[in-house]
Amino acid sequence: MRFVDIEEQLNNETSMKVIDSILNVGFLATLVIDKDTNEILYQNRKSIEYFGDHVGDLCHEVLCSEEEPCSNCILPNMTGSNAIFDVYMKRLDKHVRWMYSDINWFDGRNAVYAKLVELGDEDITSDAKWKYLKDMDKERQDTDSLTHLPNSKKFYKIAEELLRSDLSGSYAVVMFDIERFKSINDIYGMSTGDDVLIHIARVLKDCLGTEGNYARMHSDLFAYIIKYETKGDIIKQIEKFRKKVSQNAFIFDINISFGIYLIQDRQVPVNLMCDRAMMAVKTIKGDVLKFCAFFDEQYRADMLKANEIEREMQESLRRGDFKMYLQPKYRLSDTRLVGAEALCRWVHPRKGIIPPMDFIPLFERNGFIMKLDEYMWEQACKTLRGWIDAGKNPIPISVNISRYHIKHNDLVAAFSRLIKKYDISSSMLTLELTESLFLDNPEALNRVMKGLQNMGFKLEVDDFGAGFSSLNMIRNISVDTIKIDKDFLDNEIATEKGKIVVHHTIDMAKDLNLQVIAEGVETKEHVDFLKSSRCDVAQGYYFAKPMPLEEFDKLIS
Ligand code: C2E
Ligand code: CA
Ligand code: CA
Repeated sequence: MRFVDIEEQLNNETSMKVIDSILNVGFLATLVIDKDTNEILYQNRKSIEYFGDHVGDLCHEVLCSEEEPCSNCILPNMTGSNAIFDVYMKRLDKHVRWMYSDINWFDGRNAVYAKLVELGDEDITSDAKWKYLKDMDKERQDTDSLTHLPNSKKFYKIAEELLRSDLSGSYAVVMFDIERFKSINDIYGMSTGDDVLIHIARVLKDCLGTEGNYARMHSDLFAYIIKYETKGDIIKQIEKFRKKVSQNAFIFDINISFGIYLIQDRQVPVNLMCDRAMMAVKTIKGDVLKFCAFFDEQYRADMLKANEIEREMQESLRRGDFKMYLQPKYRLSDTRLVGAEALCRWVHPRKGIIPPMDFIPLFERNGFIMKLDEYMWEQACKTLRGWIDAGKNPIPISVNISRYHIKHNDLVAAFSRLIKKYDISSSMLTLELTESLFLDNPEALNRVMKGLQNMGFKLEVDDFGAGFSSLNMIRNISVDTIKIDKDFLDNEIATEKGKIVVHHTIDMAKDLNLQVIAEGVETKEHVDFLKSSRCDVAQGYYFAKPMPLEEFDKLIS
């Protein structure tokens, strides 16, 4: 450092100390700002407390979070040496009064000495400037900073006003989002993601006009409200929009899913209308052939029902409302009872008996199937133990294994714990795995199956014939039993050719040393046909429906 520099720095430090001892008094925040460059030259303690230490930074960045000097800044146009300026400062969430005085900074720069006073309600002035600033601030609060479209809060207001002011026509709320937007961000970077959003905003303005009633709600979710005469109008509009969106320079496709809510009841709050349009969007997720869907009441009713079930399921399981029903399996040659399948019934205190098809698919989606199945398996083991303790001849029980377990559960550990706990033989449990599971992930499934078979459990392919892979599949997997699907049986034995297919399927399974069970056996015709086809075991209403344990108990001796 040159001697002159050191001297200059010492001078500056001394000057700053002197200035600090003069200005750093009192309870008011004070700053000195370079009038020409907007640089903050000095802050007293109180001001640092308010804004942090920003000496050397630019005042519009620090005080107003603006990249450019504020358009409404009064410093350049200060007339006279003093000015007062009342403003709501978002950053402090306070109404404040700035009091400015022109000063000459010690190094000769033109500067402004600014004092900040917090305003009480009674002090807030209502002059035009104040209002202008408030409006500016409001606009900022109403606008999405990336796309400059209105945000969700503003959209609700726009839509409400529109629906209130024009009672004549029909309106629809349309919500849309970009398919796999997250992947675009992940693969091409956030700034590309931003460019996509800006592109969409531009197209929206293009299609609906600069005064259009649209918004960016959040992330990649947009909304607009339009007047329509026919549903076709809305779809045409969407098609036009999609076409324009696809005209871009991105190296990837932008696919958008639209959900439409046709407003019938204008009393419904706009945010709920948006939720409904959004529900419609969800119905098309993953369906590549569909890009738009209308909200429908049935879907809403289903969702509500599903929500209710989800609220109740834990408590119901705890209370023991899920009951194990058993359906007998009979050997066809002599109609001897040789097994039972455990099927779940939800015995609801208010709604009565709910069949599995009303809750199992939902539980498979939300993961609750894991708990329910484990509960059912435990009930089966408990039942077997009960029969043994009662000196009865126990018959094997088969339990259903949902696809969820293959990925998320250590089945070998779960079942070995159960047979230990109830001290039963693994050969008494048959595990039913649905045929479609074998298509999902054959390697993972084979590993699990091997583990279970090594422990002595019997494995059964449920719903055999329902898929397409059946014949090829049984060659590659090691199971003990195939259970012929009810629909497969029904459909095939309706025709002579079909009968031959079922007949040979059974033949082939027998040749591979597999046991064959038929499910959904409902008629004498079924029974005769199955007998003549060498099928071993039958399960179906012809013999018995699934029944509560107390009833089933009467069947075994
Ligand atoms: P599934 O495993 O294929 O069970 C056979 C279904 O066919 C049962 O329906 C049974 O009641 C029905 N059924 C039996 N015989 C006949 C018949 O002669 N005619 C007709 N039309 N139907 C017959 P359910 O009990 O309603 O169960 C439906 C499905 O729900 C089951 O199909 C199974 O996939 C699932 N499920 C039931 N309980 C459980 C469970 O505890 N865990 C899991 N993961 N799934 C279960
Ligand atoms: Ca089954
Ligand atoms: Ca089945």
